Amino acid sequence: MGHTSTFAGFRQIQRHDGLFQEQVHDAYKAKGKLPEPTICPQCGAVFHGGRWQWLPAPANAHKETCPACHRIHDQYPAGFLTMQGEFFQSHRDEIMHLVHNHEKREKAEHPLKRIMEVADKGDATMVTTTDIHLARGIGEALHHAYQGKLEYHYNPEQNLLRVNWTH
Ligand SMILES: [Zn+2]
Repeated sequence: MGHTSTFAGFRQIQRHDGLFQEQVHDAYKAKGKLPEPTICPQCGAVFHGGRWQWLPAPANAHKETCPACHRIHDQYPAGFLTMQGEFFQSHRDEIMHLVHNHEKREKAEHPLKRIMEVADKGDATMVTTTDIHLARGIGEALHHAYQGKLEYHYNPEQNLLRVNWTH
């Protein structure tokens, strides 16, 4: 049996496939319409105008955990970015700085885009994220800054994305 993918349910996709439309499958987002305003008691993000935003806490807001805090609580990331290679190892500090800066900028606009964990596994480092777009965005930023080889594997059933950057 020849499996090309290391992970069940994932298939390799091209970087510019129109893959990122199918969020309907995301159990963390498909929970029905929230009342507005809703505030997340964990992080203080406010659901307003149909999306989660950083806003001052409204009076008498409905309280419900946001999808990002929900994933963090469940330890169930949506995005997995693996970085490896000699270039990565010899520029690790600088690259991790770029990774965290990218998250900081994205999170300032989009409360649901967060890094969950940074873990070293042998000579690779894996960053997990609460949102597939953040993992993809960091991968694109790395590729833009340093080139290297960037690959995506997508699991459409669960809306999970693995990004591998090798350099
Ligand atoms: Zn939250």
